Amino acid sequence: MSNLRVYWMFGIVMIILVLVTFLYPGSAIFGGASSSFYLFMKLFAALGSGAFIVFLVIELANLTKRGKELELKNKELLKRLKEETVGAKHISLMVKRSPDEVYSHTSRTLLRLVKNFFFARDVAFYLIDSERKLLLLEFFEVDTNVNPPEKIKYEGTLFNSVVTEASGKVFPINDIDEEELNGFNLRYKSGCLMLVPVKFDEGQAVGLLVLLSPEEGAWGDSDVQIAEKFSELFSTIIWQIDAIDKLSSVINFYQELNKLQADTPIGIEELEFFKKASGIISRFFDFDKMTVAIYNDEKNEMQIRFVEGIESDATVGDRFELEGGLWEKLTAGGGTLLIEDYDSSDIGYRFQPDDVGISPFRSCLGVALRAGKKLLGGILLESTRKGQYSESDRFAFEIFGRCVGSAYNRLLAYNDLKSLSMIDGLTSIYNRRAFEERLSEEINRAKRYGSIFTLLIIDIDKFKRINDTYGHLMGDFVLKKLAMIIKGSVRNIDTVARYGGEEFAVVLVNANKENALISAERIRSNVEEFLFEKGNVRLHIRVSIGLSEFPADAESGRALIQNADMAMYESKRRGGNVITVFQGNNQ
Ligand code: GH3
Ligand code: MG
Ligand code: MG
Repeated sequence: MSNLRVYWMFGIVMIILVLVTFLYPGSAIFGGASSSFYLFMKLFAALGSGAFIVFLVIELANLTKRGKELELKNKELLKRLKEETVGAKHISLMVKRSPDEVYSHTSRTLLRLVKNFFFARDVAFYLIDSERKLLLLEFFEVDTNVNPPEKIKYEGTLFNSVVTEASGKVFPINDIDEEELNGFNLRYKSGCLMLVPVKFDEGQAVGLLVLLSPEEGAWGDSDVQIAEKFSELFSTIIWQIDAIDKLSSVINFYQELNKLQADTPIGIEELEFFKKASGIISRFFDFDKMTVAIYNDEKNEMQIRFVEGIESDATVGDRFELEGGLWEKLTAGGGTLLIEDYDSSDIGYRFQPDDVGISPFRSCLGVALRAGKKLLGGILLESTRKGQYSESDRFAFEIFGRCVGSAYNRLLAYNDLKSLSMIDGLTSIYNRRAFEERLSEEINRAKRYGSIFTLLIIDIDKFKRINDTYGHLMGDFVLKKLAMIIKGSVRNIDTVARYGGEEFAVVLVNANKENALISAERIRSNVEEFLFEKGNVRLHIRVSIGLSEFPADAESGRALIQNADMAMYESKRRGGNVITVFQGNNQ
């Protein structure tokens, strides 16, 4: 009987009792029963009515609850119906899974299926590493709490024989020599082990299915055949994941190339640019040495500008001839070069004569860098393994070379433009803008390393007279020659600039005023002694020089120039053709 009916019956009995006790007057109905019995009955009836009310309340609550549950169930049903009719929703959900997730989910499901189908206790799926030395555990399903090893060196083991023969086999555990398993724990004293290779494209084995059963004679040849069918399914999964991997890697590669083209800042330094490009190469190609060399068309030679990897044979700064070697082939024709094996190729040399035989490199992939038809240089990837690069690598690298070539050309064009705007047209030395830039760079450098330098300001004495007497062309000639004399009087690392019309500035790095005085004196005397000769005109000039030292005399570029200028005017006041060292503002 259901609870509900009991409640109802109990309720009806109680109602009758209430009627009897409350509606009939007095205790006469009980035939003169004692008043205590009457009182008891009344109490009983009161309890009954109370219970009935409680029952009604509970029933009502139950009804509402059930109603709500029904409503929810209805909603769920409706939702499911909707989802089933709009099946595409499920498909889009699947697509949202990453290829890795799909691979792992499908492989695990398949492995479970294999385990159940063969009543195996333990199943494992191993992949073979790229060097074909290790079995790497991908997935497993075991009944015990002992997991299969993560890695197995399979050379000389049972696994090896299956992998090389590329067909499945069952081994009775009693016949197996444990040493032949290289750490793989059989776990059962008897039973059998089934090994089935997973082949890629029906060819080389790329993985291995391992099944273990404690039952002797659990599997026979027909089981191996079925297991091989399962292994084909595994290879399809691997094939798909490989294809997806390749595709997404190609997409990534083009995205990176696009970034290199679009995001490379216009004024990027050459080294930074090559670092960026090499970053992309490292992510998508294997190599033991990467060399970027730039072509010098005047000398028909290459110079190495960037190297990553092995550097002992040829490194940054090395120059080598283009003709007759690997780089001539690389830069000729289609602009790519793929050599699978140096030993069977006809390359004369890589960088130096006869360096093919002695170098550890055995194969290469190279691409020329061009701007239109103009050769800019090339990039060479070399591997110590034979046959490292494939035709599809060559195609991708060719596209890479094109992008890098055009981006590098932009860098060159920008640098040309920059240096043109930095160089004084008449004297071919730095102009005032470039000088100010160099000066602030030098200040930063000196601050960083705690070093010093001295600034010279040089002004020609009575230059106006030369213009007035011999004309502007003679004046220009003097300015040009003077620039050369000053440059020839200082070191290569010092900066010489035309600071104004007939004023020059020199930064003597790592020199205090005493050292600088020697250089300044050299300039002064070289100028004084030089005979300026043009047409019929032969003349001598003189210069006044002022010196100030960083940071002793001033810590800013502007103040340093002011101080040197002040010292230079002091030289003028002293009659010219002299050098004045800045001695503080009170001079
Ligand atoms: P001092 O410095 O000894 O006081 O006399 P100065 O004659 O050298 O004096 P100033 O600095 O006034 O003269 C500078 C002259 O340099 C004026 C200008 O004609 C000449 N000058 C400036 N730039 C050029 C130029 O590019 N070519 C030529 N030929 N002359 C120039
Ligand atoms: Mg002047
Ligand atoms: Mg002057």
